[in-house]
Amino acid sequence: LAAIPAAVYMLQDQEVHAAEMERTFIAIKPDGVQRGLISEIVSRFERKGYKLVAIKLVVPSKQFAEKHYHDLKERPFFNGLCDFLSSGPVLAMVWEGEGVIKYGRKLIGATDPSKSEPGTIRGDLAVVVGRNIIHGSDGPETAKDEIALWFQPKELVSYTSNEEKWIYG
Ligand code: ADP
Repeated sequence: LAAIPAAVYMLQDQEVHAAEMERTFIAIKPDGVQRGLISEIVSRFERKGYKLVAIKLVVPSKQFAEKHYHDLKERPFFNGLCDFLSSGPVLAMVWEGEGVIKYGRKLIGATDPSKSEPGTIRGDLAVVVGRNIIHGSDGPETAKDEIALWFQPKELVSYTSNEEKWIYG
């Protein structure tokens, strides 16, 4: 009998955690893939304590790239950017964790690698803005839209990692 309240407490605790979990869309662009930076980039998210819930290697069409970057269609670099994104394999991923949308952007660093802090992915691994190796959603709405654009719901995997109790307490 004494086990029942504990079990209920555990369940509630997990539910509280689940409510705080966020998901973000992260992509290693063709330059990052070609330069052999997949494991380096994935390991930074993994070591931080975020959980990989979807991953695939795809060559997006130009039309798909235009959809992904639709917000930037008035910018002078839009066409070149979409040509570039569709020029080779992209590693598309969804990462999950508390605050992963905002902090994922911190791990990535500023858009222009010449202004990204050392220690960030772009700061450490890229030089110019047109070849900045990685994309990350910039807010909760974008994350939702980008995950839906790149992945079907069945491609997202929900699971409990044994490390979670050591990451979140
Ligand atoms: P972020 O990728 O950091 O969210 P933006 O959404 O502003 O940045 O831009 C999307 C992508 O467009 C950038 O990651 C970069 O690849 C490209 N880009 C941004 N500004 C320029 C620029 N001035 N010249 C060329 N490419 C650019």
